Amino acid sequence: MAEKFDAIVVGAGPSGNTAAYLMAKAGMKVLQLERGEYPGSKNVQGAIMYAEALEAVIPNCRRQAPFERAVLEQRMWLMDERSHVGSHFRGTVDGEQPSRYTVIRANVDKWFSGKVQDAGALLICETTVVDLLKKGDRVVGVRTDRENGEIHADVVVLADGVNSLVATKAGLRPAIRAHDVALAVKEMHFLPKHTIEERFNISGNEGVVIEMFGKITRGMVGTGFLYTNRESISLGIGCMVEDFKAARVSPYQLLEEMKNHPSVKPLIEGSEVKEYSAHLIPEGGYNAIPEIHGEGWVICGDSGGFVNSVHREGSNLAMTTGRLAAETILQLRDEGKDFSARNLRRYRKALEQSFVMKDLKKYRDLPEILHGNRQFLTTYPELLARAAHTMLKVDGVDKLTKEREIRRDFVNKRSRFGLFGDAIKLMRAWR
Ligand SMILES: Cc1cc2nc3c(=O)[nH]c(=O)nc-3n(C[C@H](O)[C@H](O)[C@H](O)COP(=O)(O)OP(=O)(O)OC[C@H]3O[C@@H](n4cnc5c(N)ncnc54)[C@H](O)[C@@H]3O)c2cc1C
Repeated sequence: MAEKFDAIVVGAGPSGNTAAYLMAKAGMKVLQLERGEYPGSKNVQGAIMYAEALEAVIPNCRRQAPFERAVLEQRMWLMDERSHVGSHFRGTVDGEQPSRYTVIRANVDKWFSGKVQDAGALLICETTVVDLLKKGDRVVGVRTDRENGEIHADVVVLADGVNSLVATKAGLRPAIRAHDVALAVKEMHFLPKHTIEERFNISGNEGVVIEMFGKITRGMVGTGFLYTNRESISLGIGCMVEDFKAARVSPYQLLEEMKNHPSVKPLIEGSEVKEYSAHLIPEGGYNAIPEIHGEGWVICGDSGGFVNSVHREGSNLAMTTGRLAAETILQLRDEGKDFSARNLRRYRKALEQSFVMKDLKKYRDLPEILHGNRQFLTTYPELLARAAHTMLKVDGVDKLTKEREIRRDFVNKRSRFGLFGDAIKLMRAWR
């Protein structure tokens, strides 16, 4: 192995693969290090993948990537213990390609990594980066867990995922806090293809996704999900680590409760569970993003906290940050400039101009609003379910009386002042 590379990329998830692919394709000598046995072996995702972000890196990815199903229908469920009130979107626009696909991450990561290697990057798996090599303030390479494992490079791209241990250990960023990170657990439920298609009213490569909020998380800030793959259903739930700690509830307990919810149970009836996984998700939002560039280094993807938890987007932010980091590095190389913090500031600027920072900024207050207002996850789902039940029950009571009963129920639970305050908070969260 050459001792010096143009760039070292730590991690072979979507952000690392994107950065490594683009830099290698443009002729840089790139080394990519992955601690897993193969790319994807350590990775967990729901998973919906966003084709547009991948297509910006690999044109025609829709025809090549191992996608499972194109999302035709999205359901959003606000749940109490026994029911849900939901919204539902199903449809396509003529001539427009689907933008979201369900995927099995291990398959996509392996496929993407093949492209990275074809582009000329050297990938070494089962190798953990344990620290950064520094000359003064400047990062000049990495130290791995292998014998004589010091490797030098002009620039290091940190794409090592949510724990961001390498940057933290090197003092480039503070350690991630329990307040800013969610723990999600997921099971893969296998069913015959035709059973999935009958249950969800789909055919061919069409897919359905269900996002779930409310009492299924017992008042903890979090969500549940159900995604249809070709021959399996991904089912999972996640909440903030701080909340799990305070509530003394195990994630597995929550998942079991969710599986037994009357709205979920029939959808997974008769399935065989073959995989169980757990993973952290950085959900601190804009306010939790650390410094993402410095002397000879940049941070991409989950390692920089780039997840939009409101819209369940992470992989697209990972690929976009990986792409913008690589484009910045390539620009500097082409201009004959070095990878100083001053020059790499362009990466931050490019991100600020992209949807990544704009979206994260838009929801910057939401994590704190949810933390301080659990009624959005407990009281309101219950009130809405009761209101729907009252209105839809045909029992000889006139509709005006029913409406008054529903209004009374809301005011009893939250008071007029509380309802008004909550409306303002929601508007602030969605500004
Ligand atoms: C349960 C769950 C559901 C999700 N659902 C969705 C979804 O539906 N849609 C979506 O877009 N996003 C989703 N996400 C988020 C998404 O998975 C992440 O945002 C995305 O994987 C981030 O990519 P990344 O490349 O930054 O990090 P990762 O995918 O975590 O990749 C980091 C890589 O670095 C390697 N690594 C770590 N440390 C080292 C080291 N020291 N040395 C060498 N290698 C190292 C790891 O093994 C890993 O391969 C979900 C996440 C979870 C946990």
